Amino acid sequence: MKNQIFSTNEELTTAQHKITKVSSFAEVWECPLTGEKSLHATVNFIPGDIISNFRPKEILTDPNYLTVQFNEEEHIMFTPEFLHYINHSCDPNVFFDTTKRVLRCLRKIDVGEEMTFFYPSTEWSMAQEFDCDCGTERCVGRIQGAAHLPPAILQTYQISDYIKQLVFEEVDDTNLMVDK
Ligand SMILES: [Zn+2]
Repeated sequence: MKNQIFSTNEELTTAQHKITKVSSFAEVWECPLTGEKSLHATVNFIPGDIISNFRPKEILTDPNYLTVQFNEEEHIMFTPEFLHYINHSCDPNVFFDTTKRVLRCLRKIDVGEEMTFFYPSTEWSMAQEFDCDCGTERCVGRIQGAAHLPPAILQTYQISDYIKQLVFEEVDDTNLMVDK
């Protein structure tokens, strides 16, 4: 691999990234080629584990690429700030529970593994949509927020109480339209 000249005695996979320890359970990896950052576990987690608490640092009325949606009008910048480095995957291993304000483990996470969450699990309509390249079997393609996904797909995910409420409202609207 072309990065090999930079590797010392470290494993090749870690030598490629600049790694910053940010807490007792996580570190941020920065790709030297793209500058992209990701959050990786430094301890093992099992499903149901509370990985971290989080709390609002700033409440915005409009979403941006860092915010997590609490409700219709509240898009939260939160602490600890390094949780903002958790990237999207269509097969996530963590979930932002915006009701209990905890980051919860959904699937077993091993040391060194990247933590990922499903953006539409908290975001109704996103400020910056993108084509997902997570490469997982569950990949839903374009990521635009829960408003753009069928309830049948959303039901296969852990989603926030706020999104649940909106999805059920959508389902009710559909039923009403069918009845007309
Ligand atoms: Zn995907």
